[in-house]
Amino acid sequence: MKVIFLGPPGAGKGTQAKRAVSALGLVQLSTGDMLRAAKASDTELGLEAASYMDSGRLVPDEVVIGLIAERLGESSLGNGFIFDGFPRTIPQAESLDVLMANANDSIACVINIKVPDEEIVRRLSQRRSCPSCGEIYHLEFFPPKNDDFCDQCGHKGLFHRADDTKDAIEKRLEVYHQQTSPLIDYYSGQEKIVDIDGTGSADAVHNSILGFLNKLGQEKIDLDKKKVG
Ligand code: AMP
Repeated sequence: MKVIFLGPPGAGKGTQAKRAVSALGLVQLSTGDMLRAAKASDTELGLEAASYMDSGRLVPDEVVIGLIAERLGESSLGNGFIFDGFPRTIPQAESLDVLMANANDSIACVINIKVPDEEIVRRLSQRRSCPSCGEIYHLEFFPPKNDDFCDQCGHKGLFHRADDTKDAIEKRLEVYHQQTSPLIDYYSGQEKIVDIDGTGSADAVHNSILGFLNKLGQEKIDLDKKKVG
């Protein structure tokens, strides 16, 4: 199954993708994580991406599409994947359609996680992440149990992303509304959009997403059986 998680920054795409891939045996493909890894290892691509990322702007389409084309060409994608943070523009979505069509494949659905802007600002300004395992915390609603240590892997030193400052958050929301939200219409035209209320607890959102993806998986199995029969 190949799925896209769409939504504004801070809607919970990363957290929910992480939980869904572990429940369904899929692979998480996060362009944000790929770009942060390139930035941390000071590669040429990372240095180019850093100035866009830290100011809340999008990295140029050709860079991101190149990363994804390379990753899709690798063989370790198992049962399928969840795109988290990709595509973010119409040209990226069009390139993805071409890549999928060339592989005789298609995206099964686009999970659109809906959260209002005020809630996004509240979430991101208090977000902290573990640089080692990627676990995400919120200082008020989901703080680490032990001060500055990650509950999951014990790493010391949770960090506040450079693009989670007030100015960068406002810029990222503006960019989302201008460049990414048109994807809702794009994928509605392909009848692939599934709206999910992202304002509930992480468990509630996870259950809604999983309920839908399990149903979709079952329908595909039934359809394949019919074809064989
Ligand atoms: P994220 O972790 O998904 O919030 O991404 C962090 C930052 O990485 C974004 O604000 C962008 O600067 C960059 N980025 C991630 N994914 C993309 C994408 N698909 N297209 C362009 N820039 C991206």
